[in-house]
Amino acid sequence: MTGTNDDGMIGVEAARRAILAGVVPLPVEEVSILDALGLVLADTMVATADIPPFRNSAMDGYAVRAADLRDATRTAPARLRVVAEGPAGYAPRGAVTPGTAIRIMTGAPLPPGADTVVRFEETDEPTRDPAQASSAELEVAILVAQGPAINVREAGEDLRAGSLAIVAGTPLRPAELGVLASLGYWQVRVHRRPQVAIVSTGDEVVPPGQPLAPGQIRDSNGTTLAALVRRYGGVPRLLGVARDTVEELTATLAAARDADLILTSGGVSVGDYDMVKDVLRAEGRIDIWQVRMKPGKPLAYGQLGGKPFLGLPGNPVAAYVSFELFARPIILRQLGHTTLDKPTIRARLVEPVRNGGGRQHYVRASVTAGPEGPIVRPTGEQGSGVLTALTRANGLLVIPEGVEALAADALVEVEMLHWEQGGGQFPAADWEN
Ligand code: AMP
Ligand code: MG
Repeated sequence: MTGTNDDGMIGVEAARRAILAGVVPLPVEEVSILDALGLVLADTMVATADIPPFRNSAMDGYAVRAADLRDATRTAPARLRVVAEGPAGYAPRGAVTPGTAIRIMTGAPLPPGADTVVRFEETDEPTRDPAQASSAELEVAILVAQGPAINVREAGEDLRAGSLAIVAGTPLRPAELGVLASLGYWQVRVHRRPQVAIVSTGDEVVPPGQPLAPGQIRDSNGTTLAALVRRYGGVPRLLGVARDTVEELTATLAAARDADLILTSGGVSVGDYDMVKDVLRAEGRIDIWQVRMKPGKPLAYGQLGGKPFLGLPGNPVAAYVSFELFARPIILRQLGHTTLDKPTIRARLVEPVRNGGGRQHYVRASVTAGPEGPIVRPTGEQGSGVLTALTRANGLLVIPEGVEALAADALVEVEMLHWEQGGGQFPAADWEN
């Protein structure tokens, strides 16, 4: 094994590198753009036409010739004859000739002859007698002089025909999907989502919804891990709970052979009933066991049926944190993402934190906006079974390996789990760049 030190354990960064070395993007498939949110584009998409496709009005107003307005003022307006209406969605109904105007709506093509659009607010339209509007000889008074190309969107000003619209490797967010729709691409080629098999282990663990016998607890890891898989773009496949025997775990894992990633929780420690390593050794390959981190030291990584296999710890917080550090980047790389690190921010620590034991410590913490930038405080009880401390956290405060303690007021690194704070959105604008 590589990256180990005297105590035989591997560090977090070395473990991540070793795990990701064997992971590649999954094959490409074609999906509707409505199903492509969060997936990674496999082909560079070229603009097939100009966007917008034609020169059009950016305002509701009057399409006119700038030359006709040269001397217009509020006291001496330019008076133009209105020869047509230009609603959006139709070819121009007429042309603008000297001394005339076409009443035009936002998005309507600029009629031939017009070179500028005057907003309603700069005409007599808001104050005009409504009776006059029905007269055949409608006139508009333009109250300002303005040059050409004002309130006009040029054809191709957003995208030019033939230019690169979105390049291969781009994660598709709502804005990218909108660009694809505007170009008429309703299907795109993306890396397919990984199928992620999830197995909980333990004689004491029963599925939620079942009554508890003495000594039993409910399976929370299955639900949490399935939700994390879905959050990062995978398709979770819950295979249930396996008792702590080699036979039952082997049988349950048989259903996971066609998954792209296999996750187990529990049974990976040094106890009498920790079967995961034995099964992995017998049926596949084990590359990593135990990582110098807290929570989450017991962790196994290897291959089963040629697929990446991650044996996560049983303690719910340890399972969650280990997922974020090791399973999330696997899923992201399989999806074709190249940015695999969690977003981090630097925040001012409100109270001191200690790191007993010297392993890299991930402290559940809450980041909020302080008067002089982000501040961070631990969310309380840090026991690795205390899942509620995680419900109050939006980040993991990292105490690096070998660092004993961090003092109050220190600037510290926080890996963000999500960007919400309490019921609302964390005000990101202060420190995002
Ligand atoms: P283990 O690593 O199997 O020894 O489990 C460590 C701790 O996590 C024990 O207290 C288990 O009861 C608990 N645990 C294991 N699996 C789960 C699960 N799926 N849901 C909730 N707690 C679990
Ligand atoms: Mg167990």
